[in-house]
Amino acid sequence: MRLKLLALAMGVAGGIAYATWPGHGECAGESCASSVQAPVSSQPVTEGGADAAQKTMTLPAAGGMSPTDEAAMKRIYAAFATGDFVGALTQADSATSAADFSAEFRKWLGQQMPSLLISAGWAKLRLGDCDQGIDWLRRAVAIEPVAAAVKGLAVCYYKQKHMMQAREYFLTYLAEQPSDSEMLLLYTDVLESEGRFTDAVEILKQLVALADKPGSTLDKASLTQRLTSMQGRERESSSMQTEASRNFRLTFRSGDHEDLVAFVMQALEDAVDEYHESYGLPAPQSPIEVVMYPSNAFQSVTAGGPSWAEGLYDGRIRIPVRQAPQTTDRADLDVVLRHELVHALLALVNDSRSLPSWFSEGIAQRLSCANRACSGFQFPPTAGGFLPQDSFITSYLALSAVNAGRAYQQSLFMVMAIEALKGEQALRQILTNLTTNSDLSSDGLMAPIGLNFSAVYSASSDYWKRRQVPSSR
Ligand SMILES: [Zn+2]
Repeated sequence: MRLKLLALAMGVAGGIAYATWPGHGECAGESCASSVQAPVSSQPVTEGGADAAQKTMTLPAAGGMSPTDEAAMKRIYAAFATGDFVGALTQADSATSAADFSAEFRKWLGQQMPSLLISAGWAKLRLGDCDQGIDWLRRAVAIEPVAAAVKGLAVCYYKQKHMMQAREYFLTYLAEQPSDSEMLLLYTDVLESEGRFTDAVEILKQLVALADKPGSTLDKASLTQRLTSMQGRERESSSMQTEASRNFRLTFRSGDHEDLVAFVMQALEDAVDEYHESYGLPAPQSPIEVVMYPSNAFQSVTAGGPSWAEGLYDGRIRIPVRQAPQTTDRADLDVVLRHELVHALLALVNDSRSLPSWFSEGIAQRLSCANRACSGFQFPPTAGGFLPQDSFITSYLALSAVNAGRAYQQSLFMVMAIEALKGEQALRQILTNLTTNSDLSSDGLMAPIGLNFSAVYSASSDYWKRRQVPSSR
């Protein structure tokens, strides 16, 4: 059986995007080539709160402290000074509820709480634990709405895709810090979720203008692509409508794709249930946004992507749909939706951190074809050798077009080899061990099943040389 789909990973600003391309077995030649969108800034926004964690604690004025007070104070201070912000806050919280401290100590502790809460909140945010982070940052804001706390809440709600709450904190934060370009960029994404494309376009225009200023660290080319895409989406938006199902919000062109809406919703909901049941991937906590575009408009809404993309995940699942008479085949569409859904669900469990390409594309191909007609593997007519180990880790777009196509097939092949080596439950074991702060190196990903990447690679390349499809049966 032929490999139905090949997919190329594409890094874009604000996260990792994955695109699915039609490949039909041999993605060899120029059709596999694409361009890389560089991040707008080299610093991810979660590092933008580094200053927040460096908020200082103050030492109390001399006098009025008992030895018990001083011992507690020193413990809290020492934990904070060594960067154990969560430990410092935990001790502070238990001291607050204990009866054996003086009024002087309590006064001092009260003054330290905003710093402790903000630092601990940001520490959790960086680990992807926004549930706890939000709790502490909200406590900090209740005492004093300082920018670092408000920013943390905006970022956390954004990460959790609770866009209404995110918007509230973005507005508060940006009113005070109107030139924080990373936050402005994230805010355009919030605006897109609300359908406020004109506002998003305006902000992106400002950012492009900022990128032109001397000394700017902003990536103008990438911002310009974002602007172009947003303008394309703005044009499309006037004729689009949105419907919601249990786990998805589907936006589509009114009157055009309505016959597909029920099919797409059902395919996605079924896949969420199947991935949960078979592989332990949790259902999303808030709806995943899915947008269907007429295929002739797809390039204008995904500037920088190639014309032949069959789907893309960049925080939203975006799907081009062909018009009659060359309508999109529903079986193909099903696989594309399932493929992009894997990327979406992996992003949710691992806090949108970048995965090794072989893993994300191998898993997306394997799961999207599970129990489907495309589950088999067919060697390409000229199979060639197995690619070097290094080439599977970074973006496949760094490879030549020919090698990129082969990398996709071999990624799937490695995932099949894992199942052959460790049994049918292996993928479930790996996927259920993914968390917001788990080790996403190739070795770290293989640790739950007692393998390392070299072992997977060497077994896979042996199978490949023998032209043998790995099988657990
Ligand atoms: Zn993909």
